[in-house]
Amino acid sequence: METESSSGQPTSASSTEAVHAGERRFRSHNSLTVPIVQTAVYTFDTTADLVAFTEERMFWDEPEREEYGRYGNPTVRAAEAKLAALEHAQDAILLGSGMAAVTGTLLVLLSAGQHFILTDNCYHSTLEFAQGFLPRLGITHTVVPCGDLAALEAAIRPETRLIFSESPTNPFMRCTDYGQLAEVARRHNLLTAIDATFATPYNVRPLEHGIDLVIHSLTKYLSGHNDLMAGAVAGRYDLTTPLRQTQGLLGSIIAPHTAYLILRGMKTLALRMERQNASGLAVAQYLEQHPKVRKVWYPGLESHPDHAVAVATMRGFGGVVSFEIDGDATRAHRFIDALKIPTIGPSLGGVETMVSPLAVMGFANVPPEERDLLGIRDELVRLCLGIEETDELIADLDQALAVI
Ligand SMILES: *Cc1c(COP(=O)(O)O)cnc(C)c1O
Repeated sequence: METESSSGQPTSASSTEAVHAGERRFRSHNSLTVPIVQTAVYTFDTTADLVAFTEERMFWDEPEREEYGRYGNPTVRAAEAKLAALEHAQDAILLGSGMAAVTGTLLVLLSAGQHFILTDNCYHSTLEFAQGFLPRLGITHTVVPCGDLAALEAAIRPETRLIFSESPTNPFMRCTDYGQLAEVARRHNLLTAIDATFATPYNVRPLEHGIDLVIHSLTKYLSGHNDLMAGAVAGRYDLTTPLRQTQGLLGSIIAPHTAYLILRGMKTLALRMERQNASGLAVAQYLEQHPKVRKVWYPGLESHPDHAVAVATMRGFGGVVSFEIDGDATRAHRFIDALKIPTIGPSLGGVETMVSPLAVMGFANVPPEERDLLGIRDELVRLCLGIEETDELIADLDQALAVI
């Protein structure tokens, strides 16, 4: 499917697309669902078949058949085709985790001597990779405040090649105007990659705003059931093809069964996001008026610094609500322990609501001074809503706040 021009109205993944897109190729035994092709090896009847396949592969990135499991699998390709359709991308590549997608993209797009720009409040492992690993390869970066286009432009150097951003961010849900970011990049002839894990193609399709590559941790909303690890990169063939070739070398592939679970999970993306968007807004509004809550970060609230950008560019604001309990760590932990529906855990985007005291979950290994700089206070709580009933979630928050 072609990427729409950035002048067109932004669109959003529909349930019809989520159910049907990408499942075109493979119907063995007349199976309704895409089969799990559990094999490492694909065989050839004759040497002539092998020669024909080799020639086909030289001219077409997506051959009708496979040769060896590290280079392709029909179940994985079906999941890739569905994600590409949902993102309005020419191509999508599935990898072993969200971090394999982030690191693979940076390794393929950047060479020694080059520089990239990273926006702050990004996924902490992404920052660690930029700070601790890429300098060994002679690749440098500058961190600029998310959404500050003037600071971003000022950080561009002759050797800059890429702007890597995230939106909405974790945990403060900062939102970037993708179109403006793409416009700055175009003027300076730079590539753009966005980690849009928190958005999903239901809330916004970054490629329609002129972004070059969109990255996801499929572990979160896209698979949606807290039962697998995977990542993805979607975009134009000229950018995804080198990434696919490098994936064949690095071996950062996913298993066919995982791809099947992703296909199944993605079918309900629109239904799940509808509920998670609605619960996110209702819970954020409830928390904001509660006297025992000091501050709430949710882009659907007028009090959020990026409310205007979010309203202008996104269909909904997702299911992550971050807030500070009015008190110290002890009070925040008492609140969390009093909750009955959410479980304490480090992830988001699945059907089960999860709650994290971030200073000791996700940021526990970050030195306290750096945690302060990042704004991760002891009483900061991140609530990642699942698909339970909104009113029951709010009633649960209400009873837990009442006892602290
Ligand atoms: C979880 C996450 C990642 C990493 O994904 P994994 O699947 O855990 O490797 C990257 N970016 C964001 C925004 C995330 O939430």
